[in-house]
Amino acid sequence: MTIGDGTHAVRAGLPEPETYRPTLPGPVFAAHYHLHGDADLATGPYTYGRDANPTWSLLERAISELESPEAPAETVVFASGMGAISAVLLSQLRQGDTVVLPSDGYNLLVPLRERLEGYGIEVRTAPTAGDAQLTVLDGARLLWIESPSNPGLDVCDIRRLAEAAHAQGALVAVDNTLATPLGQRPLDLGADFAVASGTKALTGHGDVLLGYATTRIPALAASVRAWRKTVGAIPGPMEAWLAHRSLATLQLRVDRQASNALALAEALSERPEISGLRHPGLPGDPAHPVAAAQMRGGRFGCVVSFTLPDRAYAQRFLDALRLVDDATSFGGVRSTAERRARWGGDAVPEGFIRFSVGAEDPEDLIADVHRALDAAREA
Ligand SMILES: *Cc1c(COP(=O)(O)O)cnc(C)c1O
Repeated sequence: MTIGDGTHAVRAGLPEPETYRPTLPGPVFAAHYHLHGDADLATGPYTYGRDANPTWSLLERAISELESPEAPAETVVFASGMGAISAVLLSQLRQGDTVVLPSDGYNLLVPLRERLEGYGIEVRTAPTAGDAQLTVLDGARLLWIESPSNPGLDVCDIRRLAEAAHAQGALVAVDNTLATPLGQRPLDLGADFAVASGTKALTGHGDVLLGYATTRIPALAASVRAWRKTVGAIPGPMEAWLAHRSLATLQLRVDRQASNALALAEALSERPEISGLRHPGLPGDPAHPVAAAQMRGGRFGCVVSFTLPDRAYAQRFLDALRLVDDATSFGGVRSTAERRARWGGDAVPEGFIRFSVGAEDPEDLIADVHRALDAAREA
């Protein structure tokens, strides 16, 4: 039976129905489990809390079902997106290997790059747009893709890049944070790993840090799981349970936030003070043709980015918003926006705004943004 994305999301990872048991069992708080006799004779999966936990197991099953509904896959959950990203890179790369990263990816890829180089790994970078990573693939052991990229919202052709990387024996990992598995399925597009921060749209309430890596290749899953055990980057049972609970509304949130983001982007395109407006769902956006071909269900994510004339102008705009919090991160049901250059690290202008569109009524949000833009201009 094939089922729709919404049905899938509300049932993802639930255990078989059992009389007098909850539909989604609560978090299991356990550092150790009863274990009789020699540990190497243990038949059950749960022995020590750093290795496995029943609450993670259900969440891992749920994410596997969403990232890979058609083929068996394994997911390993982490304490944060960076925990998952580091685990994939550091478990797969060895001294002397070459890795290709995006030059415009998540800003923590920069310190990660320095660390990899310190371990004797050659790091090459190229932009996401125009499939430019193709030009630096030669001899690489791993290709890291981020599409759509954060915060620039560029898109690359994942299938094309994955085929080129596989042709020379490289592994392919895709950061799927912005799209979520309902918006894009990297494994179906040929990637070996779908990796994401669950802190953003996946959980969507701004109250959980989480990460995951999903793969269809059991040996890769085993090596990432072994890495998690070694470095101990494990999510708490409460976070894992909250994340699983949030998945039930994933389709509702992602659809609402994507349509709100498109409506906001269209409204912003009428404003003369705005430059560099980007949203992959906008028909005129340079990323739109590839995004429309490889992303799913018209879900182009909840992020809109644009640039205001200068730093002070951007701050006046943020200060004048009433329904939008000045905060980092993205993907939450409450809209947030920030002047991205305040962090350093991203190659963006001082007036660059990363706007994460929430689940508010679109007319309220758009009216608030117009009013704040007017206030910023008149000041
Ligand atoms: C936020 C983010 C991360 C890091 O995730 P954390 O959960 O904050 O560690 C990685 N990649 C992208 C694209 C992100 O937006």
